[in-house]
Amino acid sequence: MARAKPKVKVKLVTHDTELPELGQAAHVALLTLGATGCNTWKALVESPEVWERVLLTAEQQRLIDEHPYVLQHLQRAPLRSITVCDVCGRWALAVKAPTKGAKCTLIVGCTGTLFYASKMPKRQVKVAAGVPSA
Ligand SMILES: [Zn+2]
Repeated sequence: MARAKPKVKVKLVTHDTELPELGQAAHVALLTLGATGCNTWKALVESPEVWERVLLTAEQQRLIDEHPYVLQHLQRAPLRSITVCDVCGRWALAVKAPTKGAKCTLIVGCTGTLFYASKMPKRQVKVAAGVPSA
């Protein structure tokens, strides 16, 4: 049973599971855009043939399914991502990461920390415990 279709190299995406859930959804989405060669979620939705280039885990698919409202704002180039607070859950569009450990400015009085969804895959880095950030 030979298949007529040429083989497509399927990519897995490695997202940052330490982000707040909405940030994870945005990270999965940005990596999916990168793997499929699409610049925006709209372009991806309109190109169902590129979906076979990427393989998501059940958890990654769930993240995307549960946060569709943020996906439409994301863009690879020029980059448009989000920062999201780990306490109040509010989010804002962002083009670069906030200072490491930056406190939430999205709602008055929130003590949360802002997290940024990068367009780059999660790197496996060791973080020394107890070292204050610069
Ligand atoms: Zn907050």
